[in-house]
Amino acid sequence: MAPGMRGPKERKMRQVNHFIVGDPDGRGVRKHSIWNPSTGEVQAEVALGDAALLDRAVAAAKAVQPEWAMTNPQKRARIMFAFKQLVESNKDDLAHLLASEHGKVIDDAHGDIQRGLEVIEYACGIPQVLKGEYTLGAGPGIDVYSARQPLGIGAGITPFNFPAMIPMWMFGMAIAAGNAFVLKPSERDPSVPVRLAELFLEAGAPEGLLQVVHGDKEMVDAILDHPDIAAVSFVGSSDIAHYVYKRGVAAGKRVQAMGGAKNHGIVMPDADLDQVVGDLAGAAFGSAGERCMALPVVVPVGEDTADRLREKLIPAINALRIGVSTDKDAHYGPVVTPEHKARVEVWIDTAEKEGAEVVIDGRGFSLQGHEKGFFIGPTLLDRVTPDMESYKEEIFGPVLQIVRAKDFEEAVRLPSEHQYGNGVAIFTRNGHAAREFASRVNVGMVGINVPIPVPVAYHSFGGWKRSAFGDTNQYGTEGLKFWTKVKTVTQRWPDGGGDGSNAFVIPTMG
Ligand code: NAD
Repeated sequence: MAPGMRGPKERKMRQVNHFIVGDPDGRGVRKHSIWNPSTGEVQAEVALGDAALLDRAVAAAKAVQPEWAMTNPQKRARIMFAFKQLVESNKDDLAHLLASEHGKVIDDAHGDIQRGLEVIEYACGIPQVLKGEYTLGAGPGIDVYSARQPLGIGAGITPFNFPAMIPMWMFGMAIAAGNAFVLKPSERDPSVPVRLAELFLEAGAPEGLLQVVHGDKEMVDAILDHPDIAAVSFVGSSDIAHYVYKRGVAAGKRVQAMGGAKNHGIVMPDADLDQVVGDLAGAAFGSAGERCMALPVVVPVGEDTADRLREKLIPAINALRIGVSTDKDAHYGPVVTPEHKARVEVWIDTAEKEGAEVVIDGRGFSLQGHEKGFFIGPTLLDRVTPDMESYKEEIFGPVLQIVRAKDFEEAVRLPSEHQYGNGVAIFTRNGHAAREFASRVNVGMVGINVPIPVPVAYHSFGGWKRSAFGDTNQYGTEGLKFWTKVKTVTQRWPDGGGDGSNAFVIPTMG
């Protein structure tokens, strides 16, 4: 049979369609294959949309947004509450669907959903956070108030690695604040974002308030150029984040674009090494290292710390269990696509050629019974130096690099001078060293004895340098700022007087 032809008994491939008002049919358009990374088989395909499809979604969003903006915040919050409850009651199904397309293990998939839900919980408090500011008596008989009003239509463009959390970061805040929202999730694992939009509708949201359009660069460009989209939030790799930022801003939009990362974990000589090793096992290898807040670089301070750490790391890493995403005992699963597996393995080749010592080699790993899956064994590289390309760039796989620092000053300098500045951690028992490090390091999110310092929902998430373009973080009060604009009203209500003698005269300039 010719490649691509379907045999008479073969089942039709599962289709993932757009979730827009009206006919979401993806017939006749380009398609993208969705893998099951654990089995190495294509399990579904997603329709890739174009500018005409986006126009339809935006028209529907435009029709519904003004009324939503006028809906009182408490009613909007009730829909967020109902959505939260629906996601919770469907959590297990969502986690399985997510894991089957992404490859992360079920526990991690639950975490992905849970962290998104925490932003939805924050958004349930929208009446409180939208209250604004008021000055009574700013002048004689004059009061001033500032209120935050929605922008109109917002769009989100999201990466493959958190297909539940990151969409919820964005649409939770945007919609609660009174905007309509168009989401373009990663084409690699688009099913959970569609399920979330279905549940949002079921929660009582008006049709058109949250729509999902699928696509690749063509759809991203259509979003960036669309005159009726006021703001774009992007999360993905840095080069694309920068491109999205520049093109969106040139089109007059508000844009926040989060990029890649290379987070360092500094280990001071007084650190509790058993805790550090346990933390690193999760933070470097969990989710196969496909987290923007993973810790792929460990920086022991002093040769003695480095040797002691390495000795403890080796057995801990060798004990990691790799499995399919439904394996409850697995620490991590496959990476997302065969291309990504190849790319990570090439980075290990590069590191070796550059002179790094391959202490534990995960290349060529094959999981018995799942030989076609996209698995990579855990890899430990020692004697990595800052001039190596494999240090400078993001690998995004289960690879931990040891960069030995001679002293505290060098340990502060390494993450500070790196092109990325998403997260960083320091492990120490010395409060002064921790404080000094946290205040001086040139990185956006800092953990002190906390390996993955993702801020809770009522703070805000955002890196520095090439990890974020634009000046507003995700969620929390920063997220609220991004999705709203401030209106300031200066008002005077003079006593009009019965005879008109005190009649109010509008002040004029000059
Ligand atoms: P990616 O940059 O490949 O894709 C992100 C989005 O951009 C997707 O929706 C994709 O369809 C779209 N896209 C892809 N190619 C494009 C192009 N040429 N032009 C326009 N749009 C395009 O990222 P990914 O591989 O899905 O996700 C992993 C990356 O995301 C890593 O670099 C990771 O560090 C980063 N990330 C960052 C954060 C953060 O908050 N800083 C969070 C999660 C992931």
